[in-house]
Amino acid sequence: MAYIAGIDVGNNTTEVAVAQLDPGGEITVVASSIVRTVGIKGTLSNARGVIEALDRALAPLGIPRKELGMILLNEATPVIGDVAMETITETVITESAMIGHNPATPGGRGLGVGVTIRLDRLDEAAPGVQYIVIVPGETDFRDAAARISGAMSSGVEIAGAIIRKDDAVLINNRLHRPIPIVDEVSHIDRVPVGMPAAVEVAGPGKTIDKLSNPYDIATLFNLDPEETKKVVPIARALMGTRSAVVIKTPHGDIEERRIPAGKILLVGELRKAEAAIAEGAEAIMAKVAGISPLVEIHAEPGTNVGGMFEQVRKVMADLTDQPAGTIRVRDILAVDTLKPQQVLGSLAGEYSLGNAVGLAAMVETHKLPMQRLARKLEEELMVPSCVGGVEADMAIRGALTTPGTKAPMAILDLGGGSTDASVITEDGKVSSIHLAGAGDMVTLLIDTELGLEDRDLAEKIKCYPLAKVETLFHMRHEDGSVQFFNEPLDPRLFGRVVVLAESGPIPLHTKEQPARIAAVRREAKKKVFVRNGLRALERVAPAGNIRLIHFVVLVGGSALDFEIPKMISDALVEYGVVTGRANVRGTEGPRNAVATGLVLAYAELQR
Ligand code: ADP
Ligand code: MG
Repeated sequence: MAYIAGIDVGNNTTEVAVAQLDPGGEITVVASSIVRTVGIKGTLSNARGVIEALDRALAPLGIPRKELGMILLNEATPVIGDVAMETITETVITESAMIGHNPATPGGRGLGVGVTIRLDRLDEAAPGVQYIVIVPGETDFRDAAARISGAMSSGVEIAGAIIRKDDAVLINNRLHRPIPIVDEVSHIDRVPVGMPAAVEVAGPGKTIDKLSNPYDIATLFNLDPEETKKVVPIARALMGTRSAVVIKTPHGDIEERRIPAGKILLVGELRKAEAAIAEGAEAIMAKVAGISPLVEIHAEPGTNVGGMFEQVRKVMADLTDQPAGTIRVRDILAVDTLKPQQVLGSLAGEYSLGNAVGLAAMVETHKLPMQRLARKLEEELMVPSCVGGVEADMAIRGALTTPGTKAPMAILDLGGGSTDASVITEDGKVSSIHLAGAGDMVTLLIDTELGLEDRDLAEKIKCYPLAKVETLFHMRHEDGSVQFFNEPLDPRLFGRVVVLAESGPIPLHTKEQPARIAAVRREAKKKVFVRNGLRALERVAPAGNIRLIHFVVLVGGSALDFEIPKMISDALVEYGVVTGRANVRGTEGPRNAVATGLVLAYAELQR
């Protein structure tokens, strides 16, 4: 009786199936395991992850590695997915500066419009002019209040103030007439003097409504339509804040910088097409579909998208040890998204949500040397090792161990870097396709749109539902249901939005409400997986007709998602397709399909 191991090295995870093979070719899978892939798929650094995964599978069996009769690796197509994000609209502010933030305690409320003047220059104020006072950091609040009061009594018209420290309330309490005051402005030294400015403060729990509307800004500053267009990013950045300042600066004070988004050239087997990134994802993907099957994609140098393609190539070149010039982009998935961008001319580090296009790219390297990895394993483990079968064929074979399935059928392998589809005909013929964009892309979109700059956290937001801890004894789930607790929750969770991970609730340090976070999460999943699921099935379906596929089985890590399978299933119902999650060997769920397929295929050859 011999033991054999099937090993699937993926972009994200390495999965193992250990099986017992009797001389008649009868096979029983006796153990499996899963670990994170070490290094990029197809490189020698994978060996460490493979060995760790093997050890984990073998440990409960009590079998030493050297007793394995054979190690079978997946033959991966030489394509690797990568993701990048490109801004398509640059936020350009040339003639205004702005402050928009949520200081804990701004002073006064309402709108004040006037010319900016420094506190120590108030004695130079002209009669009949409205002023906005700038209070620098070193000023004591009593001193500031006394000077402002003094100026007011001598007839200076003061409409508002901008101050460095957290003193707005303290100052306002000492004035005989309250004015709107925005405080905690870190770059007070950059606030231009002698310029028209507007200060707005909203009441507690409310948000400003004048300075977040471009037409109100235009009214306040007498802007023409051209100028109004330029304040749109300011207004957008100020939406939802409790206090804001907009200052009109002289032309050219803040430098304008613009890099074009750029174009991509889609080279198909039969035709070519050009797509401008600025047209947005819909238009780009329509062109991709129009010229499919794609051979290669180029990007215009010197543009945003050109820079992004170079970056993807460079990373892949480094990782696979090949010249960047030989690396070709084979497929892309474009997704419209919103990306918080630092606003040029902002005075308190504000962001505005700009339109961006996320791109997942499928890169073809010369070859993914799984053979080399097999040789290395053979040397290190002293166990015969070889490449046991093509990934897509193996995946469908493994998926067919799901109870209740039989050929003909199709699988969708929802991984981290790519979405793959295969179909198997009644007589066992398999055809497959690998498309750019999968779980990593979803994580990137969540990370970007929520401005987290934390991929691990974005990954958790992707995988688990949300709740809001309203008191220490209850939380409200994102579906509106309320859960009560007998023991108090960790006080650090109080008032926070939390991700309900298996390890317990993880607090998010964000001002976003659960409903918006959940909406971003669901949209990201839909944009990537529904589009790619359909795209992939169209490519492998008989005559390109999804209706001719009757059963689709989902495998891969992203098939474990608590929302994605339903989204795909809903989309496919319209084509009369029955969709379900695999349950490999009746025990593994959507995991282990390729590894299982590898040992099954080997056993068949032995018969
Ligand atoms: P690969 O074959 O490329 O190694 P996998 O099949 O392991 O990829 O899938 C990896 C993807 O699955 C990642 O994007 C990961 O975030 C996602 N994933 C894994 N577990 C879950 C889960 N429980 N819920 C949602 N997504 C998951
Ligand atoms: Mg995989």
